[in-house]
Amino acid sequence: MFNFTDSSNIGKAYKDFVLVSIDQLPDYKAVGVYLRHKITGLEVYHIIKDDKENMFAYAFRTLDKTSRGVAHIMEHSVLCGSEKYPLKEPFITLAGTSLNTFLNALTYPDKTVYPGASVVRADYFNMMDVYGDAVFFPKLDHATFIQEGHRLELDENNKLSIQGVVYNEMKGNYSSFQPIAFSDLVSAMFPNSYPAFDSGGDPLHIPELTYQEFLDFHQRFYSPDNCLLCLYGDIPTSQQLDFIDEKFISRLVKKYDCRQGGAICNIDTNSKLPLIKNEIRELQKLNFVKESASFKTFAPETGSTGSLVTMNWYAGKADMEKLFLSEALCGNDSSPLSRALKDSKLGDDVQFQSFGQFREEFYTVGLWGVKKGNEDKVFNLIQKTLKELYEKGISQEDIDSAIMGIDFALREVNRYWGPFALQIMEKALKGWCNGDACSSQLSPITNFEKVKEKIRSDKDFTKKLIKKYFIDNDVCVRFVSEPSSQYFKQRETAEAALISRLEKNLDKVQLKKDLDELHAYQQRIETPEETACIPTTKISELERKIDIPETKLEFVNGADGSKVPLFVSQEETNGIFYIDVLFPFDRLEPEYLQHIPFLADVITNLGWNGKGWDKCIAESSCVMGDVWGKTCCGSVCNVPQCLAEAEQYKEYNFCGRNWIGLICKALSSRADEALKLLAEIITKMDFKDVHHLETLMGELKAEKKNGLISSGREYAQKRARAGWSANLALNEIMWGVSQLETVSGYKKLGAKKLLQKFEYMYRECVKAGGIIHVTADEDTLKQLRPLLEVFAKEAGITKLLPGHKYTMDELKPYISNFEASQSEQPQILKVESQTGYAAAITPASDYLTKEAAAENIFASWVSNHTLWDKIRTTGGAYGASCWIDNMEKQVVMTTYRDPTPAKSLDVYLDSLKELCRTPIPKEEVEKTIVSCYGNAIVPACPKDRGARSFEGMLYGNPQKFKQLRVDNLLGVTEDDVEKAADRLYESSVKRCSKAVFCNKSNDFAGKIIKLPL
Ligand SMILES: [Zn+2]
Repeated sequence: MFNFTDSSNIGKAYKDFVLVSIDQLPDYKAVGVYLRHKITGLEVYHIIKDDKENMFAYAFRTLDKTSRGVAHIMEHSVLCGSEKYPLKEPFITLAGTSLNTFLNALTYPDKTVYPGASVVRADYFNMMDVYGDAVFFPKLDHATFIQEGHRLELDENNKLSIQGVVYNEMKGNYSSFQPIAFSDLVSAMFPNSYPAFDSGGDPLHIPELTYQEFLDFHQRFYSPDNCLLCLYGDIPTSQQLDFIDEKFISRLVKKYDCRQGGAICNIDTNSKLPLIKNEIRELQKLNFVKESASFKTFAPETGSTGSLVTMNWYAGKADMEKLFLSEALCGNDSSPLSRALKDSKLGDDVQFQSFGQFREEFYTVGLWGVKKGNEDKVFNLIQKTLKELYEKGISQEDIDSAIMGIDFALREVNRYWGPFALQIMEKALKGWCNGDACSSQLSPITNFEKVKEKIRSDKDFTKKLIKKYFIDNDVCVRFVSEPSSQYFKQRETAEAALISRLEKNLDKVQLKKDLDELHAYQQRIETPEETACIPTTKISELERKIDIPETKLEFVNGADGSKVPLFVSQEETNGIFYIDVLFPFDRLEPEYLQHIPFLADVITNLGWNGKGWDKCIAESSCVMGDVWGKTCCGSVCNVPQCLAEAEQYKEYNFCGRNWIGLICKALSSRADEALKLLAEIITKMDFKDVHHLETLMGELKAEKKNGLISSGREYAQKRARAGWSANLALNEIMWGVSQLETVSGYKKLGAKKLLQKFEYMYRECVKAGGIIHVTADEDTLKQLRPLLEVFAKEAGITKLLPGHKYTMDELKPYISNFEASQSEQPQILKVESQTGYAAAITPASDYLTKEAAAENIFASWVSNHTLWDKIRTTGGAYGASCWIDNMEKQVVMTTYRDPTPAKSLDVYLDSLKELCRTPIPKEEVEKTIVSCYGNAIVPACPKDRGARSFEGMLYGNPQKFKQLRVDNLLGVTEDDVEKAADRLYESSVKRCSKAVFCNKSNDFAGKIIKLPL
């Protein structure tokens, strides 16, 4: 046996993989093993960690100095068929049949990464096999290039347009102010080096990419000597290397001619650092602006509230010292620099760059939403504030809160949009990509301890940092990006010119041939024999019993001597605890409901105990990780199991209610102080600061405006669903288009009146009684239990009064254009946008029934096959999916970044009809069951496990029902699915609500809903 963690083995090889180094990674309780294959140059970094959710990622350094999007198109294309898996889209076949807990492909400005994760080993290796084949041996045929990249298409009227999956996806990126302004800033800071170009692709440049350049790109960058296979988890290193050796090594040796004098030869096995080819090193070089300069660019008006105005200073490599300085200056709203910027009212949101993206970084300080003419005021303010901070120093409180913020962030395990392992891997990859050790970014806690030591021993430490990075920093770049009403027009003109240029050189005969070939290729349905090449897990191999988090109901004594429900979730939280304190808002008159989201948003930002908001935020961030407002809404599902569940807690009045409250996270070592402070916040909440609420109102409006396009799918979906139940109507009032109406009315209402409303609402909710929920590890819980008794009394929590269920009639007046939501016709949300979204809602079966399980399988299959083929691949949308909301008994279909959203609705509804006639084959049903089972067992982070389990109890839907759902799922037959298809089609004919979010110029028939912002 080869021991990979024994340092005496360094320099020795296992199956030609030379052990280069071993890194102790105490910050992650892991060990890193770095290996290099001596013939192909392939590198492996295994982060060995006691975690059964294993993850792998193939990573390649991919850089380009054009905005043709070749790296991004390549990322899509390698997943469209390979030597061993010559399918149209092995990736989607794999996604639809595997037990993956994560499967993705990501293009960064300097690398492309293909990660996959699973808790089932056989499945993990299946994915590693399909992905390895895809990246090293893809087909990359011409049809794939024009499907994923770009092509000209003729419509019914013989009008030419440019199409392509990446082309359309990127059009969506170029549709609002923020991302464009920000990428222009990066371009300005790194002139003519790779960050100045768009690795995703600029739609005006994507059509410049030729097929040959595309093929060359793969040849250059996807070679084993430019690849790191990053591994994480508990599968032995030897087992993983055996697998790679067996599946890929000899094929790679052949493809890349790895012999003396061949394409890859003479691999240096001695170098402790990653090997980077010279041509790649050349591309990696960053150019900097050499002397102070000013830049001005233009970005579209959509989503803007004014200009982005920033000052920028180069800072060198990212490290903990710089991160600390960022936190101390701008870590939260009360930090000195962000407070000065906010208080100036020159803009509505602070811009302060956090480090992460490139090998060398820059500090950027400024404001979004600056009115024309105020640019110099912003510049002067930044300079003045930094100078003052240098002269007077930063307060101890601001330093303490920066330390707490970082300490907390480094310890909390989360799962933002993939396993936590992905965040660790990204750090390893950042080192590797730039030629630094994989471990170079993997000691953040240890490194921060060193910075803390410096802070403790030198009282002028922060001051010195300000001097070094700002005061004495010679090169300062001033940047302004201004919204322009001409932006889209100019791009449209440029696009038209591009099309007519392409038309001139167009070989119409060849184009027709290409398109016929593409359409034939797209329309061909793969047989089960063909897709059988993708390895799958059988239903019989699945573990029937699944892991269910548990929350216990206990009680503490409240302020009125009554028993206050205390929900306890024990999870592995690493010495952190999370506490929610919730009060019901369902006793308020319906007119107040529209203000709940903003109240929850600002609840901890208005100050308490007469101390002023900034003082309060500074105080809380020294003691807690964070404290913020929260809402929780829903109802008990009308099925016997849920009703029975709710019935057993009837006397406590907590089931099926709508809540507002606070959530706080803190380290167990500060539990006593944190709970004391939380009780103070709850009992001494202030609603007096008119000036600050005005600032927050401006921010809210800017946030809603900025997010309008990117949230288009959510708005369309909420709108389409609003008329179906009181619960969904409330959802529309609180988070949908109706909320935009509310927000846009705030200025007229005025901060003073709003504060009165907030105060009334808050007091009424608290009066109605409360509940407490904690998530923590065993030791922390023991420590918390007695403290919570004191806390409940100090926080004034009393017995819950009975709730009220709002009816549709009560809610109706607060839904903008309510009649439209009752209409058969689609609701049309019109806005200035280059991209669209569609939503269609139809009825489904009752929760927890066999029928519901079969419908889930059907919807999942339709998403992965029908919608993917017809709406994404053929229709050019970035995404389309349908799922069943069993609690609300609805099939929810949505499309994403869709060039033709109204057409997609027809395509979807027609498909439902077609699918009744052509049942889904047995093998397909089985594969889909396996994949749905996979989704059901995706691990969650401790905080989310606690929250889901708690919220389940609040709505008569405990986590134990998940086992029931999985049991039902595993019992579904192809016959059940066929019946589900019939049922869903029939019900879709009876009732279907539609909504479309699209550009103003579109003229579909329907009920127009005006967007107020
Ligand atoms: Zn993409």
